[in-house]
Amino acid sequence: MKFKHVIWDWNGTLWDDTWLCVEINNHMLQRRGLPEIDISVYQNKLCFPVDRYYCQLGFDYSKDPYKILAEEFIAEYTDRRYECPLHSGVRELIAELKTRGIPQAVLSAYQHDTLMQAVTHFQLAEFFDDIIGLNDIYAAGKVENGLKYIAGLAVEKADVLFLGDTVHDFEVATAMGVNCALIAHGHNSRPRLEACGVPVFDSLSEGRSFIFG
Ligand SMILES: [Mg+2]
Repeated sequence: MKFKHVIWDWNGTLWDDTWLCVEINNHMLQRRGLPEIDISVYQNKLCFPVDRYYCQLGFDYSKDPYKILAEEFIAEYTDRRYECPLHSGVRELIAELKTRGIPQAVLSAYQHDTLMQAVTHFQLAEFFDDIIGLNDIYAAGKVENGLKYIAGLAVEKADVLFLGDTVHDFEVATAMGVNCALIAHGHNSRPRLEACGVPVFDSLSEGRSFIFG
């Protein structure tokens, strides 16, 4: 195998939750009489830190501070999250990497305890050597956690593959000095991912041969 260690993003990469985020954002916009968005607007605007995204939708932070919006989002997300399935082929791919002896980690901007609940819900915890989320719900980003993680890994950076679905995942991989490939079935549009200059695949099955080298 070309890669000896794989790091996964969770939301949007393994978990098919983009559609739910759009629905919840629209409920938040409706409550304030603001125009709704569709999935392409979401994928074109969603960025990290997430507080730089909500202000692009018309939310006024002087009336609704980001903290309040983040709490409103996470309340509905927590209630409804298991309406979201895993993306097609996730379990098989992760199981095959495990069978081939490739260590795998999850590096997520999702709050750590809820990340653990979700990974456990899908009975995937046994496949991951490390599962790393954030300490809060505000999705500021994961560069810091990525740097800490890679510093503790006894593997060459050139042998590590980071798989994500957003420009932020590319930024984190770049900061960590590891390889990156992006899957355009999540929270950012394919043109935004292509602009990063790394391999972009429409699905995990399309990326399979790259992942297995
Ligand atoms: Mg993601």
